[in-house]
Amino acid sequence: MNFLYLKNHILPLFFLLPGILGILSFGNASIPRRYVAPAAQLPGTDSSQWRELIRMDPTFILDIRYASTRNFVGEKIYDCPKCYLRPAVAEALLEVQRALRKKGYGLKLFDCYRPHPAQWALWKKVPDPTYVADPRKGSMHNRGSAIDLTVVDSKGKELDMGTPYDFFGVEAHIDYVGMTSTVRANRKILQDLMIAHGFRTTRTEWWHFSYTRASYPISSMVWDCP
Ligand SMILES: [Zn+2]
Repeated sequence: MNFLYLKNHILPLFFLLPGILGILSFGNASIPRRYVAPAAQLPGTDSSQWRELIRMDPTFILDIRYASTRNFVGEKIYDCPKCYLRPAVAEALLEVQRALRKKGYGLKLFDCYRPHPAQWALWKKVPDPTYVADPRKGSMHNRGSAIDLTVVDSKGKELDMGTPYDFFGVEAHIDYVGMTSTVRANRKILQDLMIAHGFRTTRTEWWHFSYTRASYPISSMVWDCP
């Protein structure tokens, strides 16, 4: 078998193989590997007010901690893990995600819009404005214009940001003088892109960003759960 024969007859088979296997397994594979809903919204949610981020780009990673017990209060605050944001905020985050993906990174979200009733639930657990925004004033999360997030590598592994999410101590401050050069560089990847797309940092929490190009009212919209 000479090289030309290999090139013209054997190699093309390798390229066809995935397609052939796909056709053969079609009966079992009626659920596509990555399902993207055509509509940007769930029925009943006002699309002029809200976007569900994952429906705009399925490459975002969600780790919505308040829908689990893996958070600083150790209790579930939401019924199910979803990331809703105001349309302009979601669009800006989409731009950040696109820019990060070009560098081999991506975003992982811990908290997005937080319904106002959930803010009261948090406040009842921890009525301390150092850690939880007073629900009478509301948090930017209650307005759908703040997110808690970090950067992951191409394998989905979180970059070293110096502390875990929701770590309450000086090490989480964005101006902490003791951070390593790696942590400083990793935080800069996130901060530079977020600031360039209209977000501002919060001094005491490296993971928290608020959108500055529009303001929104506090909302009590609660998303549907399956
Ligand atoms: Zn936050």
